[in-house]
Amino acid sequence: MHGIFLVFAFLLGLAFGSFANVLIYRVPRGLSLLWPASHCPVCKTPIRWHDNIPLFSYVWLRGRCRFCKARISPRYPLVELLTGLLFLVFAVVDHSWLSFVFHALLGTLVIVLVAIDLEHHRLPDPLTFSVAILGLLWAVVTQTLWTGIQGFLVGGAFGGGLAWLAEKWYGTDEGFGWGDAKYLAAMGTWVGPWAVTVILFGGALLGSIVGLLLGLRRRTLRFGLPFGPFLSVVFLLTILAPQFIIELKSWILR
Ligand SMILES: [Zn+2]
Repeated sequence: MHGIFLVFAFLLGLAFGSFANVLIYRVPRGLSLLWPASHCPVCKTPIRWHDNIPLFSYVWLRGRCRFCKARISPRYPLVELLTGLLFLVFAVVDHSWLSFVFHALLGTLVIVLVAIDLEHHRLPDPLTFSVAILGLLWAVVTQTLWTGIQGFLVGGAFGGGLAWLAEKWYGTDEGFGWGDAKYLAAMGTWVGPWAVTVILFGGALLGSIVGLLLGLRRRTLRFGLPFGPFLSVVFLLTILAPQFIIELKSWILR
């Protein structure tokens, strides 16, 4: 796509990343998304608009609150940057405005889910449901509703089965949970029944490798890693890969 559009997509991603940060902080704490306005979590001073510019304000204020100088988590600029980059990638591979809009919304939700899962070890229902609703809408737009429904059912069945087994084996909280099962069903609406199975095994493989590496480093093999981030990485790759191949082909044949 056009260069100007790519810059616009990146800046739009930074803005959505800023909103993603609001969701990441407020959704798991059950706080309202609209009220109050963004404020410093330490001194409660409302953040002025010019101190709330994605990425730049963090650098400008050297990662501290303007008033009480409390340290601001580097998660804020990191989430903004990642969302910006993801929007940029979608802007490169998507060939229509509509698919860019759907992918951008999905990408934001996925980043929010990953951040919440890393911090709280759970995937809130309103967010995974949003992924499913968006996926079914996209399936209607692309006339693949039946594939989307099949993906939802297969993802839900595999995910539910695994969550049930994990509950039997580990008791609670360990390994694959019900949040992961719902997330997997939601992913199924986007990628269909076959790819959702690949995501499950790919995510499990990636999680085991990372878990082993971390476990070896700490000389323990306790598996307390959340599953969502690994599923998310494979999910995004699954969505992006075919688009990338199309892009690459047209670039080579040009
Ligand atoms: Zn402060």
